[in-house]
Amino acid sequence: MANPVILSLDDDPAVSRAVARDIRRRYGDRFRVVRAGSGPEALAALREIKLRGEQVAVLLADYRMPEMTGIEFLEAAMDLFPAARRVLLTAYADTGAAIDAINLVDLDHYLLKPWHPPEEKLYPVVDALLEAWSSSPESTATELRVVGHRWSAPSFAVRDFLARNLVPYRWLLADDPEGGRLLAAAGASADDVPLVVAADGRTLVAPSEAELAGLVGMSVAPAADFYDLVVVGGGPAGLGAAVYGASEGLRTVLVERLATGGQAGQSSRIENYLGFPDGVSGAQLTDRARRQALKFGAELLSTREVVGLAEAGSARLVRFGDGGTIAAHAVVLATGVSYRMLDAPGLTEFTGRGVFYGSAATEAPSCVGEDVYIVGGANSAGQAAVHFSRYAARVHVLIRGADLTASMSRYLIDQLDGIDQVTVHPHTEVVAAAGDEHLQRLTLRDTRTGERREVDASWLFVFIGAEPRTGWLDGVLVRDERGFVTTGPDLVAGGQRPPGWSLPRDPYHLESSMPGVFAAGDVRAASVKRVASAVGEGAMAVSLVHRYLETQ
Ligand SMILES: Cc1cc2nc3c(=O)[nH]c(=O)nc-3n(C[C@H](O)[C@H](O)[C@H](O)COP(=O)(O)OP(=O)(O)OC[C@H]3O[C@@H](n4cnc5c(N)ncnc54)[C@H](O)[C@@H]3O)c2cc1C
Repeated sequence: MANPVILSLDDDPAVSRAVARDIRRRYGDRFRVVRAGSGPEALAALREIKLRGEQVAVLLADYRMPEMTGIEFLEAAMDLFPAARRVLLTAYADTGAAIDAINLVDLDHYLLKPWHPPEEKLYPVVDALLEAWSSSPESTATELRVVGHRWSAPSFAVRDFLARNLVPYRWLLADDPEGGRLLAAAGASADDVPLVVAADGRTLVAPSEAELAGLVGMSVAPAADFYDLVVVGGGPAGLGAAVYGASEGLRTVLVERLATGGQAGQSSRIENYLGFPDGVSGAQLTDRARRQALKFGAELLSTREVVGLAEAGSARLVRFGDGGTIAAHAVVLATGVSYRMLDAPGLTEFTGRGVFYGSAATEAPSCVGEDVYIVGGANSAGQAAVHFSRYAARVHVLIRGADLTASMSRYLIDQLDGIDQVTVHPHTEVVAAAGDEHLQRLTLRDTRTGERREVDASWLFVFIGAEPRTGWLDGVLVRDERGFVTTGPDLVAGGQRPPGWSLPRDPYHLESSMPGVFAAGDVRAASVKRVASAVGEGAMAVSLVHRYLETQ
């Protein structure tokens, strides 16, 4: 396979030659350096590279160019090579534009010109970007192909897993000629889907999540038996704890059952997270946080569900659902919440075949020109309505209450008001679903009059109240009546320390009823259900872990 490309774009021929020379000197043996003198020329080169099936690792673009600015180029290049790392070259006077571009094109870095000596100013930046790129699944899996049926729940599960873990893939229908050819080559039939074909030709038929994770190079097995800190759950709170734990010298492993990013990873645009005035997608935030955690040396395990927690002297034991245990001095529980299932006849049958929980971003392009139904009145439902309105003919938001004001932020209500295709249906609930191979009809009920009506619907996305799913902590930790983990001062509310508490001090702020086990983010009783607070609690839990370890 051809070496991956580093593309440098500058309209000044002298600067362009100098950049290419510096890059080639250090990376020429492993990467092909492509030089372009204008944005359109560089885009043409990228299209050709794409057609040849080659990869692009890094894009370096000058900011100020006549036909197309570097930012415009990087934005267009993202459509062709979303995983390539992006660097803007600027003069000092243009740093404002570069800072703006951090949000607009998810810029990885901006470099001030001139950067001599390159050993100090250029290579460390490019080294870090190449390392990030080559350790990402994208670098090995760009040619991953998935063959399946449009309305198959297992095919959806595979695509959803890959999308949530930011692994690019090509989706082929089993009855398309190319899909058929791949099935034949793998010795499989249309009944064997989903079929997953890796770039090197390895195939998996109807794989489990762990098999898929292994295929795309994600870690599934811990490197050690004992850690300073085990973080359970890879949403914002868990990633925050992993970044702070590892950066402060704790040997840290994070265990995630599905995909890092948690609920935030499903958000199409988080607009209220500090430092991102133009919003940031959950996928971008997750990718950055993952890289940050890995950079500091945290281990990230995927597709491993934790089902048990126990005390063994000063160690805390964490047990996996598929067997095996790891031990640590301390544990941060950051398992967040999961959507409640909507309970109505027919809905279970069509889950993954028209009925989806959470945003299921993979499905958005398939909704073009069709009607989409969204159940829920909180911010997550509002964001999904905005997102789907870019694809669907109409988006119907179904809520039981009279309006959205009690449950949704003002900025989202205003956005929805401004989108013609979105209609909010108050006092409405889904009471039945029907169809043949997939969802085709919904029965809606007016909660005031009881009147029912049937609508044609192929797409239903459900965003209703979330629950913590902490049943595995029954009898192990004190939880509130809804299953959220009780921590800190709430454990000593009646003046009594929790049953079994063995230390001559009260639990620390985020500490659970088992010393050394902390809870952070949405899973914690009375926590604020926000990305910023989850990240903050992850960081705070680590400082309390340090305090706990000092007194051991
Ligand atoms: C669509 C959507 C949009 C949102 N938009 C916003 C927004 O704009 N602004 C905002 O501030 N907030 C937003 N939120 C809320 C925000 O995402 C959450 O408050 C935040 O993600 C909570 O982080 P967390 O780490 O505590 O939990 P989660 O994000 O729920 O992550 C928990 C993780 O733990 C894993 N896990 C659970 N149990 C186990 C186990 N036993 N073993 C291993 N792993 C386990 C889960 O798979 C999950 O990845 C949104 C939520 C959704 C769903």
